[in-house]
Amino acid sequence: MAREGLSAASGRVKVRVESDRCQGHGQCNLLCPEVFQFDDQGFARIVDERVPPHLEDDVERAVSNCPELAIRVER
Ligand code: SF4
Repeated sequence: MAREGLSAASGRVKVRVESDRCQGHGQCNLLCPEVFQFDDQGFARIVDERVPPHLEDDVERAVSNCPELAIRVER
């Protein structure tokens, strides 16, 4: 029974950053640092592509605020 809860918590939404578009502005990190970090060169790096349900709204805000339209979400 507890396993079902864990499965639901892993999230059904997936996120990725198109590295050829990302310019390292950092808005995504400001809005959702749990999901968006930076690589060694200052570009966005996804911590885990599966978005926890409680962070879905923050990820959507990051999508809306990325100036390069580099963030993609799959449902
Ligand atoms: S906001 Fe967009 S362009 Fe800026 S670091 Fe994040 S993904 Fe890259």
